[in-house]
Amino acid sequence: MTKIVGLYPGTFDPITKGHTDIIRRAAKLVDHLVIGVAINEQKRPLFSLDERVDMIKDAVAEFDEGARAAVTVEPFDDLLMSFAEKKGVTMIIRGLRAVSDFEYEFQMVGMNSFLNDEIETVFLMADPQYQAIASKLVKEIARLGGKIDDFLPPSVVPKLIAKYS
Ligand code: ADP
Repeated sequence: MTKIVGLYPGTFDPITKGHTDIIRRAAKLVDHLVIGVAINEQKRPLFSLDERVDMIKDAVAEFDEGARAAVTVEPFDDLLMSFAEKKGVTMIIRGLRAVSDFEYEFQMVGMNSFLNDEIETVFLMADPQYQAIASKLVKEIARLGGKIDDFLPPSVVPKLIAKYS
């Protein structure tokens, strides 16, 4: 039987509890899950690519054995669909928060289906307590000295605080 290989792409600047909730759910649906970290220089990330990859690895290390074993973290700089094909991906995973995500994701699915119509995109929703979390807003709260513990995996909290101290 062919293996189901999932790809969860994103910038993860930094990884949040919203992301980890999606990763845990996705890991249950696939045989193997690649977390694809987009270099995304045009978004001018706060954390370097290496920092983002390491923070994801640290967060995944806190998962239970089964979920941990199914996940690898890899940076990518090419077109999403090219990276997916190279990795033998059968399913792309995206998280959906509010209606605001829908418009963009709708367009991406449409465009990506022209590039490869065999790879389906599957949307997952995080637990309601994590749905409102966005990396961008967490960074803003941290910049202004607010409490960020509720939004981030414990290993990420000191790293974000250090960026603004
Ligand atoms: P991108 O630059 O691709 O939007 P992000 O790191 O911001 O990268 O997000 C990666 C994926 O995780 C996206 O599909 C995004 O919608 C999803 N996501 C981010 N935060 C949450 C959350 N709190 N709940 C559900 N999905 C989320």
